[in-house]
Amino acid sequence: MRVLVILFVVVAIGPAIIVDALARVLDRRRLRQVLRTRVARCDAQHPVELVGAWTCPSCHAPFEGHGFGPCPHCGEVAYGLPCPCSRIVVNPLAEIGP
Ligand SMILES: [Zn+2]
Ligand SMILES: [Zn+2]
Repeated sequence: MRVLVILFVVVAIGPAIIVDALARVLDRRRLRQVLRTRVARCDAQHPVELVGAWTCPSCHAPFEGHGFGPCPHCGEVAYGLPCPCSRIVVNPLAEIGP
């Protein structure tokens, strides 16, 4: 009986753990790809520098680095960065948590 319970738990929870681990691996790969990009383009194709000095939208602390990366102080990921033409370049990582 105990074996059946263990088997049930493995079959019930196992796939969820595997899917979760796979999602984490893909998220990390996407994070690395995005953080390698140094220039993004707004909808009007203006280049927007991604590496520089930023202010965190959540804790308002200034930091140097990648504008799409997590804030080194609180881990917040900016939704997007402003282009001088007033459009927003949306951060492809915005929906990924810290
Ligand atoms: Zn912050
Ligand atoms: Zn623009």
